[in-house]
Amino acid sequence: MSSGLKFNETLHPGVEVSYSCEDILYQDRTEHQDLVLFTNPVFGKVLMLDGITQVTTADEFIYHEMMSHVPILAHGAARNVLIVGGGDCGLAEEVLKHASVEKLTQVEIDASVVEFSREHFGEFNAGVLDDPRFDLVIADGMKFVAETDRRFDVIIVDSTDPQGPGAILFSQEFYDCVHNCLTPGGVLVTQNGVPFLQRQELVTSIERFSKTYRDAAAYIAAIPTYFGGHMALGWASDNAELRKTPVAVLEERFKAANFKTRYYTPDVHAAAFALPRFILDAVEEGRAKA
Ligand code: SAM
Repeated sequence: MSSGLKFNETLHPGVEVSYSCEDILYQDRTEHQDLVLFTNPVFGKVLMLDGITQVTTADEFIYHEMMSHVPILAHGAARNVLIVGGGDCGLAEEVLKHASVEKLTQVEIDASVVEFSREHFGEFNAGVLDDPRFDLVIADGMKFVAETDRRFDVIIVDSTDPQGPGAILFSQEFYDCVHNCLTPGGVLVTQNGVPFLQRQELVTSIERFSKTYRDAAAYIAAIPTYFGGHMALGWASDNAELRKTPVAVLEERFKAANFKTRYYTPDVHAAAFALPRFILDAVEEGRAKA
């Protein structure tokens, strides 16, 4: 039953996305950001940080499956994985579905987001925090990658947008430190906004990737609550063959991984790198600027 309240997302100037609220489950100002969790008749539980939609129980599977299974199955031998951000732990749940992953480290700046997600998001993160392979580090992702001597096969940046605590995670310095933390041929994947409304964010990330990594690219997925059409997921690696992994090889690896998905398939994986012209133009502009 609607409470008559509405939560409006105002991330994109000139565009307001309004959610009717049935119930407010939690609201707080954490050390780093404003946090509200409410229920919506269409999207279920909706988490907003600083007024921006982060995750909903209805469509989280799309984003979390594409952020995890694409780099891990393309890599083919990912043992050590790092997530930067990802406080709701939905992404970690997907990564831990890969029995081949021996260790998953998650570096999240805001302990409150993890604590509250353990309590409220059991639908998509059950068991993560109790998995012996899971290592949660509460810290700024920039500081962690600048100081750690550990190396990772896949690094996934599930961050907020490039403002507030998340801004540094889109910097040249951060991408360069991540490059140092990757094993040879390892891959970086980033949350990179909605190109139709956040084109410059993608251009800038690709330009910065191109200065340090041999291969800078992006793939796409459509996530209803990230308003504005395709979401871009940034891709950077020194192994330019990884993103061209044949579907037959992906099918073999996916079959061997042996878990069910609701969005990801090997065909969807390969197709996600076929970019619409306007997004390809943004990627090419970024490469040309480097
Ligand atoms: N999927 C969402 C999106 O695309 O907008 C992001 C979800 S996740 C909740 C984002 C997480 O990034 C938050 O928990 C936030 O606390 C974390 N975060 C933001 N800046 C960070 C930083 N500098 N280091 C580590 N974590 C950070």
